[in-house]
Parts: sequence; structure tokens; C-alpha cells
Amino acid sequence: MSYVIEAQAQPSLAVKGESRRFPVGRIFCVGRNYAEHAKEMGHDPNREPPFFFMKPGSAILTGDADFPYPSETKDVHHEMELVVALGKGGRNIAEGDALGHIYGYAVGLDMTRRDLQGEAKKLGRPWDTGKAFDHAAPCSAVVKASEIGHPTKGKVKLEVNGKLRQEGDVSQLIWKIPEMIAYLSRLFTLQPGDLIFTGTPAGVAAVVKGDVMKGSVEGVGSITCRVA
Ligand code: MN
Repeated sequence: MSYVIEAQAQPSLAVKGESRRFPVGRIFCVGRNYAEHAKEMGHDPNREPPFFFMKPGSAILTGDADFPYPSETKDVHHEMELVVALGKGGRNIAEGDALGHIYGYAVGLDMTRRDLQGEAKKLGRPWDTGKAFDHAAPCSAVVKASEIGHPTKGKVKLEVNGKLRQEGDVSQLIWKIPEMIAYLSRLFTLQPGDLIFTGTPAGVAAVVKGDVMKGSVEGVGSITCRVA
């Protein structure tokens, strides 16, 4: 294939124990998937249908690289999340088959321009400027599900400059991973390489230049990311 302009680079993540990389397609993000976070954002923590927004695959930031503080904002928040990496696509995937579509897991930060997201919410506008900006998705290496299994519990933690900011447990996910895959696959034809950011526990807060974010999901991995 030849193109009339230079083609964009394929975004990708390292895979633990492999020299080959995981090619990233789309990034689906689940909103309000932990009750305590729904409450802190002023919403009903009861189980309402899941909702999703997206980031482009090119928003991935890898290898513990610095997160450049984004333009046009004064309020950038961290959201520490377990990330699902799909190895197999499909439509109308049954919950019972969903885990078979997963290649592995990673840990990621759903970085958010909270001021722009808040304004968009108020005006009934899309969230893209708040959520889908350059480098908005720092993400760790992928670990294979064949090595670690499929996490249903495990502490989700984020420290900033050594101080604990966010804490939760994968067991507290309102919408479980198979439910999210089944639901998404009714709306989109899922593709190998798609990622799902599964939502963040309570404790989201602002970062400033120089802050060091250290996040982990027990049994999956960790990420370190400095705000530059
Ligand atoms: Mn999030």
C-alpha cells in the first residue's frame, strides 16, 4: 500500500515477556463504574446502564514517559484504571464468551481536563476536549491473561508524590468486564487491539507540573508518570 501523505504511526504497548508489541486500536472508556467515584462526581451510585466515551489510540503514552501538561486547562485530573486489551474482536459477544476475547490487561491513567469536561457537561456538548487530547492515556505494558488470569479483585491505587490519592478494588466495578465487552459489542464491532479503560475509583484530583503519579492494580502491574 502506498499513500499520498505520510501514514500515521501505529500506536502500541509493550507486552511483558514478549519482544513483539500490542497494536492499539480504539480506546473505549467506561464512565462512573465505581459507586464512590459516581458519588464524588455528584451522581447516583446505583447501577444505571453503563456509558462510554472514547480516546483515539494515538492518545496512548507508553513506557512511563512524562505526561506533558495539556494546553487550555487549569484543572487536569488523574483517573487510575484497570485496562482490558482485546485480542479478538466481534459483534454481539455473549457475556459467557467475553473473557475469551481478552489478550491481556494493563494499568492506565484516564487523564482528564476536568474544567473543559465540566463545561461540556453543562452545555450538553461532547467530552472530546476534556478526555481525548494528546497523551491523555498513559498506559503500562500489557500482561497476558494466559499468565495472570482474569482479575476479579485486587487493589487499585494511585499515589501522587508518595501520598495516597485513589484507592479502590477491582471487585467494586459496577459493570463487570464480561458485561462491558458484551454491551460494547452490541454498539460497535470490536476489533483486536481495542482497549477498554474500565473506570476509576474515588479520589480523583488535580495534578500540577512536577507531580509524580504512581499507580498500580494488584496482580496486574504499575505505572509511573511525571507531569512535565
Ligand atoms: Mn475514567
